[in-house]
Amino acid sequence: MTESILVLGSGMAALGAHEVLNDAALAHVLVDKNPYPGGHTATFRHESGFVFDDGPHISFTSDERLQGLLAANVGGEFERIQAYVDNYWHGHLIKHPAQVNLHGLPEDLIVDCISDFVAAAAREVGPIENYEDWLIATFGPTFARTFPMVYGKKYHTTEAANMSIDWLGPRIYQPDLAEVLRGALSPSSPDVHYVDKFRYPSHGGFMSYLEPWCRRADLRLEHEVVSVDPAARTVSFRHGEALGYRDLLSSIPLPRLVPMIEGVPSDVVEASRRLACTTAVIVNIGVGRDDISPAQWRYFYDEDVFFTRTSFPHLFSPGTCPPGCGSVQVECYYSEKYRPLDRPAAECIQPVVDDLVRTGVLDESDEILFAEARVIPFANVIFDLERRAALETVHGFLEDVDVHWCGRYGDWEYSWTDEAFFSGERAAQRLLDR
Ligand SMILES: Cc1cc2nc3c(=O)[nH]c(=O)nc-3n(C[C@H](O)[C@H](O)[C@H](O)COP(=O)(O)OP(=O)(O)OC[C@H]3O[C@@H](n4cnc5c(N)ncnc54)[C@H](O)[C@@H]3O)c2cc1C
Repeated sequence: MTESILVLGSGMAALGAHEVLNDAALAHVLVDKNPYPGGHTATFRHESGFVFDDGPHISFTSDERLQGLLAANVGGEFERIQAYVDNYWHGHLIKHPAQVNLHGLPEDLIVDCISDFVAAAAREVGPIENYEDWLIATFGPTFARTFPMVYGKKYHTTEAANMSIDWLGPRIYQPDLAEVLRGALSPSSPDVHYVDKFRYPSHGGFMSYLEPWCRRADLRLEHEVVSVDPAARTVSFRHGEALGYRDLLSSIPLPRLVPMIEGVPSDVVEASRRLACTTAVIVNIGVGRDDISPAQWRYFYDEDVFFTRTSFPHLFSPGTCPPGCGSVQVECYYSEKYRPLDRPAAECIQPVVDDLVRTGVLDESDEILFAEARVIPFANVIFDLERRAALETVHGFLEDVDVHWCGRYGDWEYSWTDEAFFSGERAAQRLLDR
């Protein structure tokens, strides 16, 4: 038994906490259930030469301090890339975001989108109760129902009418009429996506950014927390060991953490179960050519396309593939609450390959050199209408039992890697300030 600060997890949030605690020379231990560190930012390096992150990960932080830390962690060896992103819609490829890139779509659809957009702008905005109301008020019904509502259902697994708008931030671009018109008339348009440029390690995948921190930390892998006793201030692990703590900071997903806490009231457990999250099946494919896509990632709007988004890691860095090869990382979304995974992950590979061919990403003649499917049980937080109240209950309880939280699945937010890291830093700083 030791008495120090115990940090649960070893992803960006836990490592953000580690940075602050390390700078303050405060004893602390990081524990993770996995046999490898990094959480969602882990990278898997295969003998075939293909390198895939847990899910596609790029760094687009605008924070110069974090840019500097990450750059130092890879000895300055990273790629700086101008983002080019596109959308697949019923056989058409258009630049992202669709609302300012309608050029090339069927004429009637463009006319309806623009007429509705103009009418929506002229209308007095009524109460916005949910994401669907917001989309229709912002873009008009034709665009809303043809693009973001269809894509959103694939990505979030629930209807826009069942979602809040708490997560929007800069994620959905709101153009003026001139931008919509210009993008409908011209094949080229200014870049307005919130990811404009990004960075990626030249070697070893995204995880290379984290490795020096992991090497420095007192990090204990294969330590799966199974219970937390806030009265005794101990954490127990599946393998039988227990650790005492002075302060506990958790980045593990709230629906997993809360039921493990001794004495938790049943209404708090119920609230934690109402917190919804997607499950991603990630299908990684390696092929023998590197000209499979002009875009680094692509969104798929059609309901009958098996997947939601594809990324092309060989365009993040050539270090992710054998020379001359290309790679596709495919995301398919499910959720326990709204769309339970209905098959073993491996059975997603064939429908994915079929639809990569049907949508023109791959050719029938492409030789598949590598294929695997992985399940990510906690992928993206679903901002359904139950989230806010359930989260208040859960966070209130954690405060009462003096368990601190951080990161995407502790805050239960839509945080990117930088935000998860800052969340860990802030949580650690709050411990220092006590
Ligand atoms: C498909 C996908 C693509 C993404 N792409 C990007 C991107 O391109 N750029 C970007 O900036 N962000 C991206 N993100 C977001 C990014 O992954 C997160 O913001 C960030 O990794 C969250 O870090 P975290 O430390 O909060 O959580 P995690 O990385 O999930 O860390 C939580 C840790 O807790 C551990 N844990 C869980 N349960 C237990 C237990 N019982 N005992 C012990 N340990 C446990 C886990 O193993 C894990 O290591 C993406 C996310 C997804 C799902």
